Amino acid sequence: MRIKAVQGDITTQDVDAIVNAANSSLLGGGGVDGAIHRAAGPALLEACRELRRTTYPDGLPVGSSAVTPGFELPARWVIHTVGPNWHAGERSTAMLASCFTTSLERAVEVGATSIAFPAVSGGVYGWDMDEVARVAVASARAWQSGADDSWEPGHRRPTGIELVRFVLFSADALAAFEHRLAE
Ligand code: ADP
Repeated sequence: MRIKAVQGDITTQDVDAIVNAANSSLLGGGGVDGAIHRAAGPALLEACRELRRTTYPDGLPVGSSAVTPGFELPARWVIHTVGPNWHAGERSTAMLASCFTTSLERAVEVGATSIAFPAVSGGVYGWDMDEVARVAVASARAWQSGADDSWEPGHRRPTGIELVRFVLFSADALAAFEHRLAE
């Protein structure tokens, strides 16, 4: 599994799955969520409403992830995750790490081999970008080497995911991720 960081727009990525920094309502918002809904077309909102009705009547919990099709996006799937909101006192790094690892689990379930992530919680939700980068890179690496006890530490477990691409909007965010990836 390769882990990369690029500067760009996540809605144009040619990967199997892109991750949306959604909110609990799943009914759309600003930032990357708004951009993904605009690019995917109105069917995405309909699919999110359906997820609410069928599976998450109280909303998608913080740190969890759920999949819909990508509709008009190049990506086949959108994995919606809800980052912790720093401004609301949600300051658990485990919660933020869970956004990345549960998204990777959803990607495996749908058979994706490549996945792109934005800087979840690094926008309106107010987390420091260096901290987002640290948690994002650490959790992808930890997930790859396997929280699975049956797998020997230091080995790579065969998840099927070949590429994790962090797609950052700004040069500063890219620099934060590149710094962590270089460690
Ligand atoms: P959150 O509410 O989880 O903080 P935001 O959407 O406000 O989510 O921001 C998360 C990050 O996504 C921010 O760094 C923001 O600059 C970035 N972002 C916004 N639009 C896009 C896009 N089209 N592609 C990639 N990243 C984006």
